Amino acid sequence: MNAIIKVKNLVKTFEIPRGEDIEVLKGITLKVDKGEFIAIMGPSGSGKSTLLNILSSIEDVTEGTVIIDDVDLTNADLIEVRRHKTSIIYQDFNLLAYLTALDNVMFPMLLSGVKEKVAREKAMMLLERVQLSQRADHSPDDLSGGEQQRVAIARALANDPKILLADEPTGNLDTKTGESILEFFREIIQEKNITVLMVTHDMSIAKKTDRILILREGVLHREEDILEDL
Ligand code: ADP
Ligand code: MG
Repeated sequence: MNAIIKVKNLVKTFEIPRGEDIEVLKGITLKVDKGEFIAIMGPSGSGKSTLLNILSSIEDVTEGTVIIDDVDLTNADLIEVRRHKTSIIYQDFNLLAYLTALDNVMFPMLLSGVKEKVAREKAMMLLERVQLSQRADHSPDDLSGGEQQRVAIARALANDPKILLADEPTGNLDTKTGESILEFFREIIQEKNITVLMVTHDMSIAKKTDRILILREGVLHREEDILEDL
């Protein structure tokens, strides 16, 4: 099959100095096909962010296997994976306030060695794609929440990731703006054949994805398995 993410028996433990270790993920198994759009739901503290951080190789694996686009994260150059395979966006956008929208989008390209002129052109193109080219010179502080999130998405797409991980990307947006971000993910998935995993607390948004996964106390369930008691 065409699985771009393969996770088998993933365990994540945080070691607490002078305390008991916390086992946050307790043996997760998951297969995601290329081009899928997946929502991850679950109560606060259930390990959703930890799972996304592992998939984007910000956090390391304690036990088990994680294979991203045929690369086994347990023995890979994680910086390369972060640069070329995955990209993550957050609820609070994390834009650099002292840079313009354009510079924010250029930033990851410059970090990975793209020439300035090329980076500038591509960043302009991405801002056009999120319908913000007329805001290129604005500072993030001058933009609305929805606009800031669109800049963050443009920035996340700068290095052509194969997988976009989004940690509550619509959490700080009103319903209508949140839905427009969702539509935009759909378009990008179709255009670029990327795969999107999105954490959300909003069932009406989650329902519009291809598949809902629910994380509870470090164990992953399918929506059908526990929908009755939500
Ligand atoms: P969620 O995103 O579902 O709210 P998280 O993945 O952020 O949950 O956190 C899951 C659990 O792991 C929480 O109990 C949290 O306190 C703990 N945790 C997360 N990151 C760390 C860390 N770096 N060190 C220790 N504990 C952590
Ligand atoms: Mg979280």
